[in-house]
Amino acid sequence: MSLNLTTYEDLLSAITVDDGQAVHDPATGEFIGNTKMSTTDDVDAAVARAREAQQSWGALPDAERSQYLHKAADAVKESAEALAHILAREVGKPLNGPNARFEAGACEAWLRANADFEIQEEVLVEDDSGKAILSYVPIGVVGAIGPWNWPMMISIWQLAPSLRMGNTVVMKPSEHTPLSVQALVAVLNRVLPEHVLQVVPGAGDIGQAVSEHPDIDKIMFTGSTKTGQAIMRSAAADMKRVTLELGGNDAGIVLDDINVDEMAQDIFWGAFINTGQTCAALKRLYVPAAIYDELVEALAKIASETPMGQGVSEENVLGPLQNEAQRKIVADLVEEARKAGANIVTGGNPDDDQPGYFYPATIVSDIDQHNPLVQIEQFGPALPIIKYDDLDQAIEWANELDVGLGSSVWSSDEQRAREVANRLIAGTTWINKHGAVDPRVPFGGVKKSGMGLEFGVEGLKQVALPKVTAL
Ligand code: NAD
Repeated sequence: MSLNLTTYEDLLSAITVDDGQAVHDPATGEFIGNTKMSTTDDVDAAVARAREAQQSWGALPDAERSQYLHKAADAVKESAEALAHILAREVGKPLNGPNARFEAGACEAWLRANADFEIQEEVLVEDDSGKAILSYVPIGVVGAIGPWNWPMMISIWQLAPSLRMGNTVVMKPSEHTPLSVQALVAVLNRVLPEHVLQVVPGAGDIGQAVSEHPDIDKIMFTGSTKTGQAIMRSAAADMKRVTLELGGNDAGIVLDDINVDEMAQDIFWGAFINTGQTCAALKRLYVPAAIYDELVEALAKIASETPMGQGVSEENVLGPLQNEAQRKIVADLVEEARKAGANIVTGGNPDDDQPGYFYPATIVSDIDQHNPLVQIEQFGPALPIIKYDDLDQAIEWANELDVGLGSSVWSSDEQRAREVANRLIAGTTWINKHGAVDPRVPFGGVKKSGMGLEFGVEGLKQVALPKVTAL
């Protein structure tokens, strides 16, 4: 490893440029550095290099690519603190709690898991009629387009399986968090062969250039449903393969047998992880009338006592929204709920003189299922809590939206919880937790929350072409 990218200063100077687009800290407005912005010519050049590099990368024995992923994980581990500081500055997420250091750690964990999965050819038939074998071969060049909320971790979700399966990768980070992804790629490229992994920072037009590029064979996309639909249309021309991880509006159903004191913290963090800016976070909570007031009060107490502030300050575990547009979405939805008569139990009154895109952790009770704060993905620190008398009604409400990423059931009785879980329409239903993704367990959405799976051996198969050999 030649360059030392283990301090924040080194890493920042390796990825910033003199002329480029300014990036600011969402907590303070402070200038962090200028990012390079790519042109469509840069995309063409990166794709050409990726295609060339894929020849030798795809021809390596699988075990060697696996070793490269372990070396990449070592490099991330060495630079973890520097990477966490880039996240804290650019995304605004605090170093502590389930935030920046946690994200850097997840990058290492997902690299190692993807290095270690066993993917073997399957003998499907072997009898007098002959033999049929199913194996998986590289697709070619993968274009990976990502969002701003977990920019490093989601990039790893896209690139680690792709590289393992012999593809090369061109990443297009969100225009809101270009430095985080460039920092991650710089660290990984200390150990990866040249041009196996490249990054083209830019806005939506560069994402579109990637998704339309005739020499890109597969798109891994994480972001909004609307952009996912545009990507599907672009991909149709060349019949590109696509994996789409899109927006959600996850429901959590609490049953009447929970111990509120024991479960309130986990419910809170299921909703407020990364200050609510998480695809599979709990975004609407259904609570039975019998324990409604008690749970609302417990969640409001936690929300009002949990420290929120600058990402780089060690004491905080909640941060600002990453960008102004997202803050406005949250603020407008809470205002609409207030006007409709909902009760803003805590939060809901941002200090407009404070610098940065802060919005207080907000608990909203006495809210109707058809209120926009329930129906629309708020993607921020505001949780609507809906009262129910009839469990069937709560399940119907949970299922009635056109998205289905995650969901959860909270109960002291596993059997009861599993019966309810079986009736929820979502890619994953957690019991007594929410959003707890695991690199070994496939993750993906149903309905307009996407298509395809990530993680585990299933995830590897999605960045490869199935190949049948019959003799
Ligand atoms: P977004 O769709 O606005 O942007 C995502 C990426 O797409 C960005 O890099 C953007 O530049 C690019 N892009 C924009 N227009 C494009 C086009 N026409 N063609 C190709 N690329 C284009 O999403 P966002 O605001 O960054 O992310 C928030 C959304 O992502 C939320 O809805 C959230 O639920 C979802 N999300 C989903 C998951 C998941 O795993 N399912 C994870 C994180 C976020």
